[in-house]
Amino acid sequence: MIAIVLFGKPGAGKGTQAEFLKEKYNLTHISTGDVFRFNIKNETELGKKAQEFINKGELVPDSITIDMLKKEVEKNMDKAGFLFDGFPRTIAQAEALDAFLQSINLQVTATVALEADDEVLVQRILERGKTSGRADDQDETKIRTRYEEYNEKTAPLIEYYKNQNKYYAVNGIGSIAEITDRLSTVIDRF
Ligand code: AMP
Repeated sequence: MIAIVLFGKPGAGKGTQAEFLKEKYNLTHISTGDVFRFNIKNETELGKKAQEFINKGELVPDSITIDMLKKEVEKNMDKAGFLFDGFPRTIAQAEALDAFLQSINLQVTATVALEADDEVLVQRILERGKTSGRADDQDETKIRTRYEEYNEKTAPLIEYYKNQNKYYAVNGIGSIAEITDRLSTVIDRF
C-alpha cells in the first residue's frame, strides 16, 4: 500500500486534484476538512468540538484531529493506499502519522506539494466562497488567519519531509489536467 500526503496552502487545489488521483490510483481519499464538515453538518460530538476552531480559521487541536484520522484509516483498509488531503498540518500530527502508519506496517510514501502564490490563492478562496457555502471561505480575515496558521504550524512540515527525502513540489498553477499530470509524474515513481 502507498500513502501519499497531498500538501499545500488553503486553496491550492488539493481537494480538486484528490478527486482525480483517488480514481487513477485506487486510493482512499481522506480529507480531514471534509470529515470535520460532515460531522458539523450532522451535529456529532466531534463536529461540536471542531466547529468553533474551523469557523475562526484556526486549526482544530492535534489530539482531536489525530484520533479522527486514525479511525478513518482503520475503516478504509480496502484500497491500494491512502491519499491524505489537509493532514498532517502540524509537526505533532506528522509524528503521530509516522508512528501510527508504522504500527500497521505502512509509511508515508511521498509528500506532494502544490505550490502557488498566496495572493492568487486568497482570491481563489474568496471566489470559491461564493458557492462553497463555507463560512471560512467568505471572510477575508478568516482566510488570512488560515494562512497565518499555515505559515506558523504547517510550513515547518516542508523541512520535516525534506529531511526524510519525501518532499516533492509541483507548480500548482495551470489547468486541472496539467496539474494532475505533474502530480502523477511524482506518484508514478513509487
Ligand atoms: P480544509 O478543508 O483542509 O481547508 O480544512 C478546513 C478547516 O478544517 C481548517 O481551516 C481547520 O480548521 C480544520 N482542519 C482540517 N484539517 C485539519 C488538520 N489536519 N489539523 C487541524 N485542523 C484541521
